[in-house]
Amino acid sequence: MQLVMLGAPGVGKGTQGKLLSSYYQIPNISTGDMLRDAVSRGTALGLTAKGYMDQGQLVPDDVMIGLIKERLQDPDCGHGFILDGYPRTEHQAESLDQYLAQINKPIDAVIELELAEEEIIRRLSSRRICQGCGRDFNLISNPPPADNKCPTCGGAIVQRADDTPETVRTRLAVYQQKTKPLKTYYEKTGRLTVFPANGSVEEIHNRIRSFLDAKIQ
Ligand code: AMP
Repeated sequence: MQLVMLGAPGVGKGTQGKLLSSYYQIPNISTGDMLRDAVSRGTALGLTAKGYMDQGQLVPDDVMIGLIKERLQDPDCGHGFILDGYPRTEHQAESLDQYLAQINKPIDAVIELELAEEEIIRRLSSRRICQGCGRDFNLISNPPPADNKCPTCGGAIVQRADDTPETVRTRLAVYQQKTKPLKTYYEKTGRLTVFPANGSVEEIHNRIRSFLDAKIQ
């Protein structure tokens, strides 16, 4: 099964993607996590990406298209994958469709999570992540332990550099301008399903899962 998670930053694509990943036993591929990892390791990709990420801008398409093609060739993608944060522009979406057609693994469903902007800003400002493994926390709904150490890997739990109010505003504007048009792109080809992203993590997960289970039967 090949899935795309669509939606503004902070709607919970990563959280839902990871749950679906463990249920369907296919990898959740977060391009944001891949880039943050590259930044923290100081690789050439990380050095290129950092400036764009810190400003809430998109990393250029040619970099991203190369990165995702390489990742999709990894053996763990053999039975499918979930894309979280990719594609983010029409050019990325078109080139992804072309590539997946070549390898005969077309997208089965595009899941869009929808949430009011005030709620997105509230979630992003209270979001925290583990620097080591990327595990998500939220000061309100899923608080980190008192010692601020990740229960999974022991890493430090921090606020993302791009979750500050000013960068969040830029990221939401970039989303509206560059990524929102993908809704029409996938709608036109009958692949989009929209889910409200309010409610508990489990409720949303169950809704998406029922839909996908029915689809693959
Ligand atoms: P995310 O963790 O998905 O919110 O991504 C964090 C940042 O990584 C974004 O604000 C972009 O700077 C960059 N990024 C992640 N995915 C992409 C993509 N598909 N295209 C361009 N930039 C991306």
